[in-house]
Parts: sequence; C-alpha cells; structure tokens
Amino acid sequence: MSTAQPLSALSADQLASFRETQQTAYDELKASGLKLDLTRGKPSTEQLDLSNGLLTLPTQVNDASGADTRNYGNLQGIAELREIFAELLWVSPDQLVAGGNSSLTMMKDTLVDLVLFGGVDSPKPWRLEEKVRFICPVPGYDRHHTLLDSLGIEMITVPMTPDGPDADAVAALVADDPTIKGMWLVPTYSNPAGSVCSQDVAAKLAAMPTAAHDFKIFWDNAYAFHHLTEDEVKSADILSLASAAGHPHRPIVFASTSKITFAGAGVAFLAASPEQVKWYLGHLGKGSIGPDKVNQLRHAEFFGNAEGVITHMRRHRDIIAPKFAEVQRVLRERLGGLDVATWTDPVGGYFVSLDVLPGTASRVVELAKAAGVALTPAGASYPYGNDPQDTNIRLAPTYPALAEVTPAMEAVATCVLLAAAEKLSA
Ligand code: PLP
Repeated sequence: MSTAQPLSALSADQLASFRETQQTAYDELKASGLKLDLTRGKPSTEQLDLSNGLLTLPTQVNDASGADTRNYGNLQGIAELREIFAELLWVSPDQLVAGGNSSLTMMKDTLVDLVLFGGVDSPKPWRLEEKVRFICPVPGYDRHHTLLDSLGIEMITVPMTPDGPDADAVAALVADDPTIKGMWLVPTYSNPAGSVCSQDVAAKLAAMPTAAHDFKIFWDNAYAFHHLTEDEVKSADILSLASAAGHPHRPIVFASTSKITFAGAGVAFLAASPEQVKWYLGHLGKGSIGPDKVNQLRHAEFFGNAEGVITHMRRHRDIIAPKFAEVQRVLRERLGGLDVATWTDPVGGYFVSLDVLPGTASRVVELAKAAGVALTPAGASYPYGNDPQDTNIRLAPTYPALAEVTPAMEAVATCVLLAAAEKLSA
C-alpha cells in the first residue's frame, strides 16, 4: 500500500521541493533520448503473427454453396463466415452482412446513406432536416467524432459510466428533441474508458421514447471478444432488446476482425433488422458487385467455427494482458495516494483512460512529447477535440513491446507529477 500523501496536503515548502525533484527527474528523462509511442490502438507484430496461417489460405476457391469466391457477387458475404460471427454476436446469419476490411467504412456508408436517402423509418433524408445531432458518450472514440463532424452532424455529450452511457441523461435528451437522430455506443470494453454496457442500460436505450422516430444506436462492438481476463463478458443482445421494445430498426451493430486477425486485412460485419439489412445492401449495391470473398473464405477456414475465434482471442490475451498489468503497476506505484490522477483498470479492450488534474492533460502530453514519448493528443476523446476539463489522456499499450511499456509509463508518471506540481504551485 502506498504511504504517499495527497499533493494538495503538502505545505508550500514541501510542494516546492516536490516540484524540484520532479523537474530533475524530468530533465534526466529528457536527456535519456527516449523514442516511445503509446498513441494508437494497434495490434503488435506478435499479435499479427498469430494469424499468419491466413497467408496460405484458402485451400480452395469455392464457398460452401459451391460459388467461386474469386468472382463477382454475394454482396452479403459468404454464409459460412456469417454463421461463425452471427453465433458470436448473437444475431441471425440472415441479419448479418460480412463486408470489406473496415467496420468504420460500414459506419460511414450507413451514415452517408442516412444523410442522403434517409433510413427505413425516416420521414425524409437527414440532409433535408434543418439540423441533425448525435449523442456521443465521453470519453469516446475520436474517429466517431470526426466522421460526424465531416457530415455536418452536431455532437452532444453524455458521460460514459462503467456500465455504459448515462442512460437517464440520454433518455432526457432524446425525449423531446427531434433533431437528435442517433448516438454512438461502444458496448464492450469501450474506447477509451473500457466500460461494458450493462443489460439494464442497453434495455433502457432500446426502449426509451425518442422524439425522432428514426433514432439510431450505432452499436460499435469493435472489442466484443477482446477480453483481458478469464471473465469473458457477453455484450447485451441489443437487436432483440430493441425488437422486443417495438424499435427493431433502432440499433445497427458493427464489428470486425481488425484486432482479431489483421487490422488492415480483416473482415468487417454489420447486423440490423432484416429491413435495415436490405436497405443497407440496396445502397451498397450501387457501388459494389460484392466483397472480397476470398478473404472471407480464408477467415472461415482459419477459424473453423465460433470456438476457433474464442480460442484465438485467448492467445491475444496472453500477449497483451501483461502490458496492461504493467501500466497498472507503474501508475499505482508512482501516482497512487497522491490524488493527482485516476485511471481505469479495464478487463478488456485496447485502452487505459487516465484522468489527470483538471487543466493539466495538455501539459502532460506536451511534456511527454518533449521527452520522446508520443501520447494521443489531449482532448482527442472528446467531440471537436475539446475536453472541457483538460483532464483525459488515452493510453494504448498494445503496440509497444512489454519492455517498452515500462519506460513509457515511467515517463508518463513523471510528466503527470511534474504537471501537477506546476499546477498546484501556480
Ligand atoms: N471502432 C472502435 C471503437 C475502434 O476503436 C476502432 C479502432 O480503433 C474501430 C472501430 C475501427 O474498426 P475497423 O478497423 O473495423 O475499421
């Protein structure tokens, strides 16, 4: 247990001496010539190597129906791969589309189609609405925000809690405001908070009355199977919950194998009500004669079945769990008890969310950069890059080697302490 005293309880002299110690530590850090990166949530080379079996697959060219995967056709994707992921995502294979290599592209296509044409339950295309707004739980995924912004969709924030978005705050916002057309939700091990949307929160969001009749939940389950412990949580079954509540077209589920096989050459998925899948494929078909089915077939062969995916994810866990443990150890040992930061201890996903003293996140990132440690820009987890408290920093420890995580985190801790000492003595 740490015997440290909260920094705010130090006398002026003690604080001055603490600041001096941190400044010296920081100067030494700067002189040590580090070049480390904790910015992007990418799989490491060792993780990518787990899927090298794909490089010699498929062993045949025909899918289970006998169709030649090398040719055009089958916009919805091959049945055998959809069956595997339908089981894992708890959806019917008919309601699942297997697409190209990026679920983010599927999200963009869906949003663009909603803007241009309107959805299955829209009174008119969203482009004809005076204003369209989306709810973004914060902290959240920066690319969700930049995508909305690029389409002129305004963003409103609600707090992300450990159980998912603050459902009461969402319900209060959507009840009488028809301009709020949708929300993002990363239900399992959210980016960056690591939150898991509880059954209760999912049920509330599925059932809540919304002034916009075509309200959508973009259920981005990017980390559905990315467990860091043996407690492998299951995501709520949002399609069934929404259907039972009389809102079958509200959720659109996205997922991909980007962090299961190859981030740049995996397969992405979309699931929704049968009508909405038809709507999506109808628009997709204007610009595609079919996905990369050879890639889909090799993924189906590689996994064999749903259990194959689960077993494969445990190999990922063995590689990355020690890195997350190291992040916790350094944060605990260096910052514990000082009351200068709080952080998540996620049981899955790719990130640790670090909250430093309000007003110091940008300073920490700046100090780290000058010392050779790249951190995600402060504010990146907030719409418009604007963290009103300047407090949140996203840490992504999967890509660097374990031996690099330690010095990178030691450096982060030193920067947090120096920024806190500067702030408190200002
Ligand atoms: N959604 C979330 C929440 C993510 O964190 C990421 C990648 O970091 C993606 C989607 C990207 O998914 P894909 O590689 O399938 O486009």
